Amino acid sequence: MDGKEWVHTALDLFFPPRCAFCGGLMEQSGNGVCAACESVLPYKKDGGVSDLNGFPSAVVFYYDGVIQDGIHALKFGRKSWRAEVFGRYIAEHAAACFSEPFDTVTFVPVHFKRSIERGFDQAQLLARSAAKTLRLPMLRTLRKARSNLPQSTLNDPDQRRENVKNAYRPFRPAHIRGRRLLLVDDVITTGSTITAGAAALLDAGAKSVVCVSLAGGHRERGASIMRESVVY
Ligand SMILES: [Zn+2]
Repeated sequence: MDGKEWVHTALDLFFPPRCAFCGGLMEQSGNGVCAACESVLPYKKDGGVSDLNGFPSAVVFYYDGVIQDGIHALKFGRKSWRAEVFGRYIAEHAAACFSEPFDTVTFVPVHFKRSIERGFDQAQLLARSAAKTLRLPMLRTLRKARSNLPQSTLNDPDQRRENVKNAYRPFRPAHIRGRRLLLVDDVITTGSTITAGAAALLDAGAKSVVCVSLAGGHRERGASIMRESVVY
């Protein structure tokens, strides 16, 4: 056992590793997902690849089962270590899905008031972890200009688009100009939020923008969805 392995073993003893999705204890930290969750991860069909209002977009998982539990725990459980694991899935997915190269990772921010209340911005944590895996810089490029209604309160796609129109402004032009950006968000519904961010980045001089989200959409009814107990 070399020094590094010993440190990992000692850490596992004092801080037993938990699965990022169900929160269950694991014997070894490994890749942060337990065998039970790994076997039921609801990957999107065809990588969730689509053209979203003119932007290439990919989505890793359906927003179902253990994914829904894991994201809920990340948002409300203040367990930001989960973002480390989820960000790795985002990075690997983006690298596999996009032929168009990107050189910088960025994220769709929540309004600063909400990130202060919560203590962190979950999309930023995901982007940071994804950038680490991809060995690329992660930069903040957007700010939320106004606190619009939560998108979850609106069902109509037109209302959702209108609600986020002009909601994002460039944060630092030097972080944007000439860059090929990978724009990260946690959950995508109609895509109007992430593409409003992408459009603001193009307007501010980004060379290109591709969008990647951790989860979005539900599997068809009838598909078996296994739920695990969640530890927050
Ligand atoms: Zn698990």
